[in-house]
Amino acid sequence: MKSIRVFCPATIANISCGFDVLGVALDTVGDEMVIHKVAKKGIRITKLVGQDLPLETEKNVAGVAGMALLEASGYEGGFEIEIFKNIKAGSGIGSSAASSTGAVWAMNQLLDEPFPTSKLVEFAMEGEQLASGVAHADNVAPALFGGFTLVRSYNPLDIIPINSPSELYATIIHPQIEVKTSDSRKILKTNISLKDGIKQWGNVGGLIAGLFTEDYDLIGRSLVDHIVEPIRSILIPGFNEVKTKSMEAGALGCGISGSGPSIFAFSKGESIAQEVALAMSRVYQNIQIDYDVHVSKINTQGIKILN
Ligand code: ADP
Repeated sequence: MKSIRVFCPATIANISCGFDVLGVALDTVGDEMVIHKVAKKGIRITKLVGQDLPLETEKNVAGVAGMALLEASGYEGGFEIEIFKNIKAGSGIGSSAASSTGAVWAMNQLLDEPFPTSKLVEFAMEGEQLASGVAHADNVAPALFGGFTLVRSYNPLDIIPINSPSELYATIIHPQIEVKTSDSRKILKTNISLKDGIKQWGNVGGLIAGLFTEDYDLIGRSLVDHIVEPIRSILIPGFNEVKTKSMEAGALGCGISGSGPSIFAFSKGESIAQEVALAMSRVYQNIQIDYDVHVSKINTQGIKILN
């Protein structure tokens, strides 16, 4: 095999209570990439369609993550990368992670899979370091493993795949305002109180238990963030109203996707998720902010080969 075309899923990171440790992959929202294995050494990005992003290998997350894999692989040749972006950069649904994971996953396939998925996460994290200044894994892990993932530990890296309940759907709305990941990290406090910690890890445990036992009420009760959302939501106009209207429409829970400005909600069943999409959309229509809205099943496979 010399070339491969892949679907690179969008991802929701943090999932309310799990800042920097929880993430989930989406099924109907994502980029495409075509990767060619070539004799010429190094990595070149030969095409980038849909977004205005750098083509230079060292400035594009696909190039940086790909170089990390290439150097570790000992392969003497190189790769050419074509990127077809559907996910807007800085939207909070893992635009950078889609490119870095797509690159390393496809290259690993073209080299006959020398690396396990956990190692691909490490390579892809180098792309996240470039995008946001922090090598976080909560977007790249679900894109590579599929479904929900928990980063139990960063040092050493320990990724735990979590069950995805079969009737769980995500609704995501992206208001067209810019919130840079680096800015939304800067406003966070570096200390939390023990009182908030207790509430937060209670919810992380509850959410994981709810996902494994497919207990939708428990999932809903656990989708609460006492630490990051109260601060970050200030950067997202309409957030509180979107949340209220989503819950009224039947969502199990609603929160900020990644570092925002996208907002996600989980629902049991597609029809409720569609109702939630309407309710969210009305909020932004009323305050006259343009938006994109998506409803997606959970993607349990992660990156997929396209023909
Ligand atoms: P998201 O949360 O959607 O991933 P980030 O703000 O984390 O958005 O990442 C976007 C940043 O990464 C932008 O500064 C963008 O220029 C940079 N970047 C570099 N290469 C890519 C790429 N291939 N896809 C998306 N973003 C990229």
